[in-house]
Amino acid sequence: MVIKMENMRDTLFFNPKNGYDRLPADERLKLEEYCAEYMHFLNEARTEREAVRFAVRAAEEAGFRPFDPTAALKPGDRVYRVNRSKALILAVIGRQSLSEGAVIAGAHIDSPRLDLKQIPLYEQDELCYLRTHYYGGIKKYQWVTIPLELHGTVVLKSGESIDVTLGREKDEPKFVITDLLPHLAADQMKKTMSEGITGEGLNILIGSVPYADDGKDRVKLAVLSLLNDAYGITEEDFLSAELTAVPAFDVCEIGIDRSMIGGYGHDDRVCAFAELRAVLDVREPEKTCVCVLADKEETGSDGVTGMQSAAFDCFMEDLCALQGVPTRRCFEKSFCLSADVTAAFDPLYPEVSEKRSESKLNYGMGICKFTGARGKSSTSDASAELVSYVRTLFDRVGVVWQLSEMGKVDQGGGGTIAKYMANRNIDTIDAGVPVLSMHAPFELVSKFDCYMAYRGILAAYSA
Ligand code: MN
Ligand code: MN
Repeated sequence: MVIKMENMRDTLFFNPKNGYDRLPADERLKLEEYCAEYMHFLNEARTEREAVRFAVRAAEEAGFRPFDPTAALKPGDRVYRVNRSKALILAVIGRQSLSEGAVIAGAHIDSPRLDLKQIPLYEQDELCYLRTHYYGGIKKYQWVTIPLELHGTVVLKSGESIDVTLGREKDEPKFVITDLLPHLAADQMKKTMSEGITGEGLNILIGSVPYADDGKDRVKLAVLSLLNDAYGITEEDFLSAELTAVPAFDVCEIGIDRSMIGGYGHDDRVCAFAELRAVLDVREPEKTCVCVLADKEETGSDGVTGMQSAAFDCFMEDLCALQGVPTRRCFEKSFCLSADVTAAFDPLYPEVSEKRSESKLNYGMGICKFTGARGKSSTSDASAELVSYVRTLFDRVGVVWQLSEMGKVDQGGGGTIAKYMANRNIDTIDAGVPVLSMHAPFELVSKFDCYMAYRGILAAYSA
């Protein structure tokens, strides 16, 4: 091919453009509609259990049914299986046999938060507190002096399970962790940011009015009495409870141009919702489409509801068995989009970034060839062939995407569920929405990137 001189730069240089310069006018409305739906989801789904409940409701409305492994399925059939209330797999049966492989998209629905300890309640100097053990990677100083709400499930001695949501509604009380006033913080301010607020110091204020008697721990008694009135729980019931404090901020638009969304738990519910919407929108695909909403990613994907659990293999085995296909044959021909958020380039902190290869707001879905840390350790590293497949697919249908790498070499790092899928002999690549302030109580994404993640996953399902 002979390149004309005046076009040499256009032809030879890789020169990504801002997504808004590449968005057809008629897509703008769809983008806004999609993001309004996402914001509603993010407000409703503050924990993995709530995300599962939301997704099951939406799936049932879209014609999905609980998967019965003894009943034959035909192309276009839609099934789902809930794993212990905390994880979910949905599938739309394709025209081709599972021996040709499935298209899998996997996101996680757990987010960093403050879990209550199993004996959390105590009174100190006539104030009542809840002790916590944080979940996932957090900067502890970000979690003090913000309104918190309580979510979770308590299983009573009787075996009855009670769902608790307190502080989500406008008129419900919230909770908070206090911090020192600057006037008396001379010693605290000399500490490092990781030492200034400690894990054992993250105690949530829950009450201050004493019970009207002369006994001890009168405030704690009054708090327990209120909890007992509302939920029928006693102090002992905290032993078999999963209660968690999450930020009580509402999801909202950010920026005078309303181009961004602020909220708690974008990581990774922004990709989880994109997958969910995409799998609901798929009709009768060529290949069977599988949507995985996993738990426990923030703590390493271990456990029965994490991506390392055999629950996924069990689901796929049941699907494959209906078609008489060995699961390993299906896996080796499958493709998985590990849909997780990426670290967006932050102009306020350029020193940690390698600007050339980091994802930017409004540049579309971020594709990570590899993750990991210290010499790419712990990454599954997608092959050049796989990157080529995704790149070609996205370009063909007009999905705006970009490359994404997490920060400078040796600056830190992280992982996703990708390697656990790849270890199963499934070709897997990471791709997701760039996030600013990741893992903070209030994270930020751009609407454009949210919409492109949905378009990207839909393109993979529809290939
Ligand atoms: Mn994530
Ligand atoms: Mn995360």
